[in-house]
Amino acid sequence: MILCADTEPDRPFLGSSSRYNVYCQKYSWNGIRIGVPAIDNVIRSHIDSYKENAKMTWFLRADETVKVSCGNSAYLFEHFDYLWKKLMHEGDEIGWHCHLFRWSDTRKCWKQEIEDRKWMEYCLDLAYNDIAKRRFKVTSTSMGWHYHNDETMRKLDSLQIIVDLSALPGLSSHGKLQDIYNKTSLSECYDWSLAPLHPYFPSSRNYMKEGTLNERLSILEIPSTIVRGKPWIIDRMIHSDEAVVHAFSEARQKKGRAFLLGFLHPDEVIVSHLNALKGFFLKHIKGLSIQNLERSLNLITEASERMNIPFKYMTATQAAKVYIRDANSGEGEH
Ligand SMILES: [Zn+2]
Repeated sequence: MILCADTEPDRPFLGSSSRYNVYCQKYSWNGIRIGVPAIDNVIRSHIDSYKENAKMTWFLRADETVKVSCGNSAYLFEHFDYLWKKLMHEGDEIGWHCHLFRWSDTRKCWKQEIEDRKWMEYCLDLAYNDIAKRRFKVTSTSMGWHYHNDETMRKLDSLQIIVDLSALPGLSSHGKLQDIYNKTSLSECYDWSLAPLHPYFPSSRNYMKEGTLNERLSILEIPSTIVRGKPWIIDRMIHSDEAVVHAFSEARQKKGRAFLLGFLHPDEVIVSHLNALKGFFLKHIKGLSIQNLERSLNLITEASERMNIPFKYMTATQAAKVYIRDANSGEGEH
């Protein structure tokens, strides 16, 4: 079981004051200040079949947008350092979440860069180096809006990232997202249409495909669990039961390991923050709550007991290391 949180400034569509059409701004951090401790509290009260606490992999936002508004791209790592150290001490992992947002002077907004590959490499290098200066060694990544291309995957591989968790097998999006406030096009592009449902070492020539021994990268891609054509969101109860039962059935069928991987965002579990939202906002956050995170974790425990199959909570890098060890020893099951 791999539980993940993309951890970033409070998002505009959840009612925060941040905007895509402001170059430099003061972000609000309620998701981190209130949401992260609330999630921490819930996961620490759940244990796996080996009597170990549930664990979270927190992907902290670091990229050029953060640099412009906060002074350095690794601001979150530095500013909330005490919080990450506490969580790591409790068994969690700190990973990296990078949005390839680039300021557009013509459109006057932060827009997802999907063409200039040199700039993308620059953006990844910049943030990685800023994180390293704060003495964090990140080995796992989740890309903003799930975007990857061959160059970004190779770049993460060259930065010695062990595991990436951006894939949404079978899904793609072609940039229809607009800023709700000024109707500017922001894009939301990703393509995982050819990606397999199981973990894989991407080909250096096609990030969506499993590479042959000669041309595969060292980075492991662990895809999100997809239920009924949508990624499994752990703090939303839609199809959680199905996702959980499917993972256990897969483990039984293959007499080996199966991964269950779900995401959440800390800013979406703050009830008081969300109560103020109406209309458009409410539709997008429907069903997201800290109680539903708790219910999802209960479902995992119940399914394990009912089906008599043990389960283990792991961080992204722990899970990757187990997979890589098994793959190297020839015991690997998908
Ligand atoms: Zn994000």
